[in-house]
Amino acid sequence: HLAASLEVEETYIMIKPDGVQRGLVGEIISRFEKKGFKLTGLKLFECPKELAEEHYKDLQSKSFFPNLISYITSGPVVCMAWEGVGVVESARKLIGATNPLNAMPGTIRGDLAVQTGRNVVHGSDSPENGIREIALWFKEGELCKWAPTIDPWLN
Ligand code: ADP
Ligand code: MG
Repeated sequence: HLAASLEVEETYIMIKPDGVQRGLVGEIISRFEKKGFKLTGLKLFECPKELAEEHYKDLQSKSFFPNLISYITSGPVVCMAWEGVGVVESARKLIGATNPLNAMPGTIRGDLAVQTGRNVVHGSDSPENGIREIALWFKEGELCKWAPTIDPWLN
């Protein structure tokens, strides 16, 4: 097994419409905050069909693709950019396996979901896709590359 990345990376995390409608937004954001990653982008957004298709273009040929696009466009999503050392792989671990029934307890999908087609959250699968997806979902001025300005012990 490869050693975890020591690089500062960015990843695109999205709470899917079922996560928003089930009231899981706070719970899901908390998991990434508590882990220690830095939130650099956040918005509630109704995703146009074309954007959903571009985001999932690698899955175009799959039989579930039309259902996936209607799922993602069925209601608002929460778009997030998170930054940190090794954040891409770590976020995938926090999220858990694609099929929630195979996801370990303690992961977001393992704790909060049952169906692959309703698996509450997305996370980029590589640093390259993290950059690609953040650029796809956010406009430049919507991201904040901030550094702490208060006494860290107050946190
Ligand atoms: P992940 O989100 O874990 O990276 P994939 O990139 O393989 O998983 O698939 C993207 C999304 O497509 C999944 O999160 C899920 O919502 C949906 N999906 C994947 N496989 C299936 C399937 N067999 N049936 C229905 N939906 C699926
Ligand atoms: Mg994927």
